[in-house]
Amino acid sequence: MSWNTVIGLEVHSELNTRTKCFCGCKNEFGNKPNTNCCPVCTAMPGALPVLNRDAVERAILMGLAVGCRINNYSVFERKNYFYPDLCKAYQISQLEYPLCVGGGLEIELEDGTKKFIRLNRIHLEEDAGKLIHSARGTMIDYNRGGVPLIEIVSEPDMSSAEEAVAYLEKLRSTLLYVGVSDCKMQEGSIRFDVNISVNRDGEPLGTRTELKNLNSFRAVLRAIKYESNRQIEELEAGHPIIQETRRWDDEKGKTYSMRTKEDSQDYRYFPDPDLIPLEVTNEYIESIRAKLPKLAPQRVTEYIAMGLTEQDALLITQERAYADFFENVLSYFNEPKFVCNWITAEVFKKLNALEVDDRKITVQPKDLAEMLRLYKDGEINQAGARKIFDVLWDGGTEPSKLVESLGLKQMNDTGALTEVLQKIVADNPKAVAELKAGNEKTMAFFVGQAMRATQGKANPKLVGEIVKELIK
Ligand SMILES: [Zn+2]
Repeated sequence: MSWNTVIGLEVHSELNTRTKCFCGCKNEFGNKPNTNCCPVCTAMPGALPVLNRDAVERAILMGLAVGCRINNYSVFERKNYFYPDLCKAYQISQLEYPLCVGGGLEIELEDGTKKFIRLNRIHLEEDAGKLIHSARGTMIDYNRGGVPLIEIVSEPDMSSAEEAVAYLEKLRSTLLYVGVSDCKMQEGSIRFDVNISVNRDGEPLGTRTELKNLNSFRAVLRAIKYESNRQIEELEAGHPIIQETRRWDDEKGKTYSMRTKEDSQDYRYFPDPDLIPLEVTNEYIESIRAKLPKLAPQRVTEYIAMGLTEQDALLITQERAYADFFENVLSYFNEPKFVCNWITAEVFKKLNALEVDDRKITVQPKDLAEMLRLYKDGEINQAGARKIFDVLWDGGTEPSKLVESLGLKQMNDTGALTEVLQKIVADNPKAVAELKAGNEKTMAFFVGQAMRATQGKANPKLVGEIVKELIK
């Protein structure tokens, strides 16, 4: 009998508030270590936390975007444990009464089917500091301590590594649409914990292990595949699975036991006496809902109404930055299908060559619009458009001037082209015969020859017309 894999995910996402969750220190990445600190976030005796309203709003905003119910009453609790990056020896988090519950996300699977992944909850908590290991020893940077985080907990609804990654991509995209996190994996502003177990049809769920702090989609994909195979091999050899936390070693491509899994009672959670329960009214929730930006599904519907295929609409809305760019280009040049084709082919080709975190469109929407207008009007051909696009991508500007300076103006002069083609036709009787015999593919040969003779400037459509005329 074959094995099933059961996967649930916990995603920690830092909120992009200006200040930390319970004090006024700056929430910024990359500053000099231990400069964004105060008595509150370094746990000086007597210092008291004050909840950041903006962090609450951002958490609610994300909850609303994924269909959560927002609890009018939630409680901050202390999760007690010792680790050097946590100077209070407890983390302020939420357990019994989280801010958001339920909701979910629909993912598209590779075979085109859709699957709904349920969410259990989204709660608000604070991040810990960061340990920096070096040859001199381990140093601690508390700048990150107290940065607001949301933990987004899914139900165990995923059954393969690919589904888990599809869910994470959708979740990251949603966070970016809502605009509550920058989701930079390299900077750790979004991190993933995977809960995984295996069982056979008809059997109860297996014992699960937890893989901690994965920070790339590729690591998630590989770690899940490795871990589910490891569990299956253990069980088939008659060894029980131990409930434990395991560490993924990306270089070795293996997971290692870190510690037996703790349960929530081990943390001695209790309501933080320094923070009163958080109460949010329905009016307040609705005022936050009014700030929700237009999300991907709504844009997909709009783009289809503009004439895009569903597939194109899904492609171009996979990230808010792409959809915003598309709409910006349209505001200068309203040819949705034409613009979309260029973005999904040429822009995506550039982006896919970059790491996920670095995928930034570097062309100004106005410039792309102008270039596409020149292309559509026949001022330049496709090869010329690509050349200009390359220059724009690398920081160039003003496509019309580039047409001149790069000498890319398309040859639309029938007389001059006829002259060029007369010679080509005369020199290639065999190709002429083939074309006359009805072999349409031979036309590509003539277009190619014409391009060579004109340094790539000939208008291919015009070349076709003239060649047909000449061989009559
Ligand atoms: Zn502080």
